[in-house]
Amino acid sequence: MTDLAYPPVVQALAEASQRIGNDPLLIQAAGGNTSVKDGDTLWVKGSGLWLRDALTRPLFAPVALSQVRARVAANEVDPVGPALLSTLAPPGLRPSIETTLHALMPHRIVLHVHAVDVIAWAVLPDVQAHLAAALEGLDWGWVDYERPGLPLTRVVAALMQTTAVDVLLMGNHGLVVGADTVAAAEQVLQAVIDRLRRPVRAALEADVSTLVRIAHDTGWQLPANARCHAVATDPLNLARARRGGLYPDHVVFLGHELTVAPEAMAASLDAQDAANEAALSTWLRLQRALTNPPPYIAVPGRGVLTRDDLPEAAHEMLVCLADVLQRLPDSPEPLYLPAEEALGLANWEAEKFRKTLSR
Ligand SMILES: [Zn+2]
Repeated sequence: MTDLAYPPVVQALAEASQRIGNDPLLIQAAGGNTSVKDGDTLWVKGSGLWLRDALTRPLFAPVALSQVRARVAANEVDPVGPALLSTLAPPGLRPSIETTLHALMPHRIVLHVHAVDVIAWAVLPDVQAHLAAALEGLDWGWVDYERPGLPLTRVVAALMQTTAVDVLLMGNHGLVVGADTVAAAEQVLQAVIDRLRRPVRAALEADVSTLVRIAHDTGWQLPANARCHAVATDPLNLARARRGGLYPDHVVFLGHELTVAPEAMAASLDAQDAANEAALSTWLRLQRALTNPPPYIAVPGRGVLTRDDLPEAAHEMLVCLADVLQRLPDSPEPLYLPAEEALGLANWEAEKFRKTLSR
């Protein structure tokens, strides 16, 4: 652990951020963000950085809190950039896209996570009554999906004009909790996760040996984490993954369309015939040779193959997709991001910076 010379409360947040960032059921890659208000300085996670690195590299960017709030109230296009305290800021750090949301929350400590159990709730229709029962006793609120950044901040601001919330659930997105100390914020986070934990459907086994044979020398390989196979082995998961994007980071890092190996080719593998396997290998080579090859391919009933140069961030997002799908009930069907929103997110300028930082 290195001494990053943060004020003590920022150091405490850094320690909590590393803990949270190391749990793939809470945070994937550069997703999620944390902040602390120290006087009029808001220290917020830098864009594109991983919470799990909080103790090994400079992670938090300082901004002038009252300035950000005033610039949001004045409807400025970029309320954060001019408020960066550049003399204190570690070089190269750009405050998170969610800085305005952190500034808006009255709590000293704010933690925003993409917890897979919460995402699974947040993509289901008509869950308010269930959530009210599960979160009884907590001051919580709900906002429907909005684009991360200022649009999301504005709907949260509208909610908070009428309701004080320590726990905020965001449709098709995730969870924000606030408290006045780091320990209290972690406690609230844990309490919400415990109360919203969802059953996990049994995963169907992947056909790893066949996947290894058909992927040989094609530029595709087995996923780093075997949980990913659930996207393709389970017909319900596959149908849902094909239908669209469920939450922003998936679309940002893995695109808005899923590439699936032709059903007939995948089914022909049952015959364990070398010619059928060779046909699928040829199809895989063609996919890899595309100008923009897909990040991964679902082979129906068999499992998933990932591109051989897929960055770690994309691997983590793929595990997240499997984890979320495995937590959805047989019915009702989840709500998807609107197609035009998914397309917009996949090409989003503000997120390109974040993606370029993903390893
Ligand atoms: Zn988020």
